[in-house]
Amino acid sequence: MSLRLKLTFLYSGFLALTLLFFGALVYFIMQHNLTAETDRAIAEIARDVVRSTRIVENNIFPLRQVVLPNMDVFSSPNTYIQVLERNGSVAVQSRNLGGQIMPLSEDTLRQAARGKEFYETVMAGDQSIRIYNRPLVYNNQLVGVLQVGRTMGLMEATLGRLRILLFLGSGITLFLTSTLGWIMAGQALRPIDRMTEAASAIQEAQDLTRRIHYSGPRDEVGRLAETLNRMLERLHRAYQVLEEAGAAQRRFLSDASHELRTPLTIIRGNVELLRKMGDQDPQTRAEALDDIAGEAERMSRLVADLLALARADSGFKLEMGPVDMGRLLADVIRQSSILAGEVDFVAAGTGMLEGVSVQGNADSLKQLFLILLDNAFIYTGAGGTVYLEGRLQEGWVEVAVRDTGAGIAESDLPRVFDRFYRADRTRQCDGTGLGLAIARWIVEQHGGTIGVQSREGEGSTFTVRLPKTQ
Ligand code: ADP
Repeated sequence: MSLRLKLTFLYSGFLALTLLFFGALVYFIMQHNLTAETDRAIAEIARDVVRSTRIVENNIFPLRQVVLPNMDVFSSPNTYIQVLERNGSVAVQSRNLGGQIMPLSEDTLRQAARGKEFYETVMAGDQSIRIYNRPLVYNNQLVGVLQVGRTMGLMEATLGRLRILLFLGSGITLFLTSTLGWIMAGQALRPIDRMTEAASAIQEAQDLTRRIHYSGPRDEVGRLAETLNRMLERLHRAYQVLEEAGAAQRRFLSDASHELRTPLTIIRGNVELLRKMGDQDPQTRAEALDDIAGEAERMSRLVADLLALARADSGFKLEMGPVDMGRLLADVIRQSSILAGEVDFVAAGTGMLEGVSVQGNADSLKQLFLILLDNAFIYTGAGGTVYLEGRLQEGWVEVAVRDTGAGIAESDLPRVFDRFYRADRTRQCDGTGLGLAIARWIVEQHGGTIGVQSREGEGSTFTVRLPKTQ
């Protein structure tokens, strides 16, 4: 059953019950009031009759002591009066009874004998008559019963009309309100229908860029549309991130296999050469073995870098502790001096960082600065200078690696931190293109930042900022 039908049924059901209850209430109150009205009227007439009755003392017949008035004075077309003797025979009656006796129920006389006045409804043919029975007692003796009856035809006709009116009224009201309820439920649910259609269209087309159009007020339905749209927006973004991550993963995999294939090809070529040449040419043999050793070394570097990045991707977190930056940089300077070769290496301001600590991982921080210095030495030819400069700033420790080397073209700058990105692939340097990607990951793990400024032919500056422990 549709929600619309359910709502309409529920609503109409409640309404029908309410109408039934109030209809019945109105009917019974009306019936009670009309009966009470009749009872009052006939009792009043009975009182008038009694008031007009005279008593004649010392008559030997009990009822003859009582002189009754002319009953026709008190009767009217639908009101009948009769007086019964104690034995039930009619003593006097109004003329409009035409000699007929007002029906007597079995215990009328019995009840009257007890001296009680009471009302009863009796049937005369197809008419019901409301009768007020009033015992006539004189000198503590029951002398007869005065009966005033009124036909209930008028009241029944009134009640009959009321019944029809209530039935018709309730029926029409029920029909009209159910129809209206059906239309209103349809109207209220239409936006939901439209939203369902839109949502299933989005689902079928698998198009997360589409949105549910709703132009109504910001009511329950409006808020539902809004929520659905927000959910679609989030789904769309999550899907995009997932797709980008997937694409990056595929790119990474193909780059990695490409990078690994180059040294393998060189090694295989040299092995072939060695097989063919044998021991014939010692110099070629030595060169081939050097090549093989060099490529094998490059490969193991590459594999180590790949492993580091794979660990980073899998959510690996560095173990952190307080690290004295002055001491760490002193170690870095000592180790990298060996790599400097013919490049001039100048350290400045690092002593100032003695005793300044950051929350970090010493091995990774060393690796970070070695990557930057190694790059600086490689991309700065002999005669150039590489500076390692330490600075203290409000809340931060800043370390810059500056060189006077080849620099980086402006178009390459935004991409140098990308994996496998190498600015000038024609350069004869055996890097992997992963160093700066690893450097950036280390900095991010420390809650710091890394940036680069460079001008082609003039040199580059890589600046690392790490939050200082207070
Ligand atoms: P690589 O192993 O190639 O050095 P990196 O990720 O460390 O990989 O660096 C990416 C690229 O950024 C390098 O190939 C180089 O083109 C450029 N680069 C990095 N450092 C410097 C520098 N100090 N001077 C000039 N170019 C640099």
